[in-house]
Parts: sequence; C-alpha cells; structure tokens
Amino acid sequence: MSLNHLCTQMPAQDRAQADMLAVQENSYNGHQVTAGFTGPPRGAIPVKKMWRNGRTLRVKILNGSSKVRSKIQQYANAWTPYMNLKLEFVPSGQAEIRVTIDVSNASWSYVGTDALAADPNSQTMNFGWLTDNTSEIEFSRVITHEFGHALGCIHEHQSPAADIPWDKPAVYAYYQKTQDWTEAQVDQNIFEHFNDSTTQFSAFDPRSIILYAIPASLTTNRLSVGWNTELSATDQSFISSAYPATIAADVAYFNTMEVRPWDKPAKEAMKSQHLAGTGDAAPTLALGLNCLDVGNNANLRVNAFADNVSASSADVHIDTWADTTLYAAAVTWFTVPAGNSDFQTGSFCTEDDHAWDHPQQKTARQITFTRPYAAPPKVIVWLCRLDLDRSTNYRVTATGTDVTTTGFTLHLDTWADTKLYSATASWIAYPANRANITSGTYSITDVRPWDKPQSVNAGRIQFPSGCFQDGHTPQVFHAFNSLDVDRKANVRVKLGADNVGKDGFDWHIDSWADTVLYSAGVSYIAV
Ligand SMILES: [Zn+2]
Repeated sequence: MSLNHLCTQMPAQDRAQADMLAVQENSYNGHQVTAGFTGPPRGAIPVKKMWRNGRTLRVKILNGSSKVRSKIQQYANAWTPYMNLKLEFVPSGQAEIRVTIDVSNASWSYVGTDALAADPNSQTMNFGWLTDNTSEIEFSRVITHEFGHALGCIHEHQSPAADIPWDKPAVYAYYQKTQDWTEAQVDQNIFEHFNDSTTQFSAFDPRSIILYAIPASLTTNRLSVGWNTELSATDQSFISSAYPATIAADVAYFNTMEVRPWDKPAKEAMKSQHLAGTGDAAPTLALGLNCLDVGNNANLRVNAFADNVSASSADVHIDTWADTTLYAAAVTWFTVPAGNSDFQTGSFCTEDDHAWDHPQQKTARQITFTRPYAAPPKVIVWLCRLDLDRSTNYRVTATGTDVTTTGFTLHLDTWADTKLYSATASWIAYPANRANITSGTYSITDVRPWDKPQSVNAGRIQFPSGCFQDGHTPQVFHAFNSLDVDRKANVRVKLGADNVGKDGFDWHIDSWADTVLYSAGVSYIAV
C-alpha cells in the first residue's frame, strides 16, 4: 500500500446549516461537550456530529464492481458489533450515506451528521483506488477508516491528545509533492487540532484505524507509525461509548438551532414539545437557560418561556427584542405534573419589584410556598430571562437563601458597574429527604479563579452514594444561575454534561471564539 493514498475529512460547505441539521438529528450534539475545529469559521458555535443513538443508517453504493461493493459492505460492518447503530445497505431510494468509487478522485468522507448537509444527489463518501485487484488488507484499511468518519470519528492525529513532534517544513514539502496540497490544506488536514479533550480520544492511540501512517521523515524525533488496517481496542470502546446499547432518555432541551441556523439570527424561536406522563391536567414547567450566543453590539436580552401548556404539549420559546442579535440559545425545563404534592415551582422577575428603567444592583423577594414542607426543602434556581446593559460586563447571579418549611428568599443581583435592567429566575423546591433525586450547584470558580479566564472549563459532580441504583442512568437538568462575561466580545457560553452515571457526571462550561468568560455558575437537578 502506498503512502500516497490519503484521505480527506470533507468539511461541510455551509457550517451553520450543517450545525442545524446536527442538532435536529440529535439534540445532544447541541449540549454535549464540544468538538469543533479551533480554526475558521470564526465564531462558529461548537456542535458535535454524532448520529441519533439507536437509529439505522441507510447506505447506498452508487457504482463499482460487485466485488468492491461486497467488500465495502463487509468492512463497513467491522464497526457494527460495537455500536448501537445499524447499517442498512439499500439498492435505491434515499440513504444518509452515499458511496461512490471514483478512481479519478481521492478517498474522502463527510464526518458524521455533516452528510445530512450534502447535496442529496451527490455522494457523501468516495473511494479513490479500490478495484477488483486491491489487496484484502487494503480493503480493510480504507473502508473501515472511511466508515469511521461517517460514524463521526475525526483523524486521530488531530486529537487534542496527539502531541506529534512534526517536522513542519518536511511535512509541507512531503504533502505538496505527494498530494499537491497547499500549506493551508496541510494545516487543515494535518496540524489543526480539535478543541476539546473529550472527543473520541482519551489518549493518543497509535493503533487507531482513524490514524494516517506517519513516515519517520516527517517527525523531529523520527517517530513513525505504519498503516493500521483494523479497529483498535480504543476504536471499539470509543464507538461503544458514542452509541451505547442503552439509549438515554432525552433531557428536556430546546436549542434555537433546531429551527434555524445560528448565522440567521431572529427575534423569535419556538418549538412545540410533546409532554408525556404528566397526568390529565396541565403541568408546570420551570425553565433555565443553558447556552447563549448573543451579539455585544446591543444589550444582552433573552427571554425563555413556555405557553400553551397542556397535559400533552407545551410551546417553548426563546426570544429577544429591540436591537439585540440572538445567534443561538438553548433552554432546559423541569416538568412538575399537576397535583404532584412534593414539587413546587415558580418564578420571580425583578420588574415585579421595580421598573426596568430604574435598575438596582440587588433585588430580594420572599417566596412563600403554596404548601408548607415538613422540613426545609431543597431549592434550585435558574436564570430564564435577562436584560443587561451592553456598556459594562455582563454580570448577574440568582440564588435562593434562608430556606425554611414555608419559603425562601430569592436574590437577583449584579455587582461592580453592571446595569441589570431586568432578570427572571425560575425555582424548584422538593423534599430534602426524597429518594432517587439529587441537586446542587457548580461553578467555574470551583476549578479556577474568575480573573484567569479561559474558554474550556470542566469538573466532576459526585452524587451522594446510594442515591441512584445500579443500572439507573439519571437525567441531569442544568442551567445557569450566574454569568460573568466580558462585554468586549459576543456572549458565547454553553453547558455540557457527559459520562453521566449513577455516581455522578462530568460538567463543562465552555466559551468559544474571542469571548472572555470570567465565570459562570450552574444549578442542576438529577433524577
Ligand atoms: Zn480519513
């Protein structure tokens, strides 16, 4: 096999459109941890590209000999024992993965759901050199590799964990000679790293099928890697964790990218959400914001709310107003069935206390429970509506204090020179001794000082031992309770949770592009 036979991860032509399709396919692409390129386009919101777990992907091979077609089917299925996706090879009709064999072309594939953004009349994957005379080992190497891309894997040498000591001038010269690549193409295909430490990689895996061969002449320490020809143990465990046998229940979530791309900002976005198991009467929804991408050329104004709430559905809205540019935002909600005596929810807006055009730094309101509790309950508080002046940093915090059996004090505050015109917090209360539920808060300041801003922040929440039984994967609902973001760039911040299990979860609070994120705090409830 020749080193000349390289593969290209085909970038989506319309990044924002592909991001919208990714979130429509699998809402976790919007709120799980990020996996975008560090490079252009500037400001693109980081979105994952994984398929909806449990689905069937249709694969249509558009040309090729019967031998090559059967080899494609055989080696694509190298992945299937390890994942909860099915590959269905269809002779005609629609297919998510469309394969051509075109020896005048390179080998390439779109990555994961980017295939949904491709022209439906063209291929999403091409094999540039497969013929009836191709060796068995080359069939295995190339087909397994390209289908790895189609399932959402990126090149292993672009892992944030890969620390390959490239001899850069030698690399540019080599790929210019063998592939006719420009320096920009080498940068994109070889040097550019993905920006998150929890994509498919925990550590650099030199045995991965998704790795290029690395000739010793291209590294400063003469490190070399040969062509890998089959799935490594890490490839198998990655795809198993990406598409596990147990399909997690969807956490309530609405991202504006489900209804429009982030580069087409609008004043209003709405999704009609089906509600199940809420009984015969309309439930109550407590909402909290968990992703913001808002321009800094106007005040930070965003409003998440639900209306037309019935026993079976609710309309969830994320709006802005006046001259604010809302690129994207997301919200979660916790649903309390009518007649449930344990949970109580409500909301409080500073404008219930004073007018928006008379801003004040601190607002406190005594909240009285409709039904008193036997003992002081647990209370969690989320931000669901914001109106902050653009001329100073965006600083706001919502907290509940002095919790008693009959109520608590809800605070909506800002500090320093920030002008908080208005904010709304929603709250949820439940008995502190209730089983199979836990809640709490976490903050960027748990892991670093606020005055050392960085874009990627992560930690782990450990649930109380015995809170959840073996085999139960709780749902984690989480949303902001505080923000502290510099006004000099757009407000871009999002939450993610992964590795959710009965013992806890990993949290992520990330910003992207040139946003300066001093801090953000979160309240969560896990059931
Ligand atoms: Zn590749």
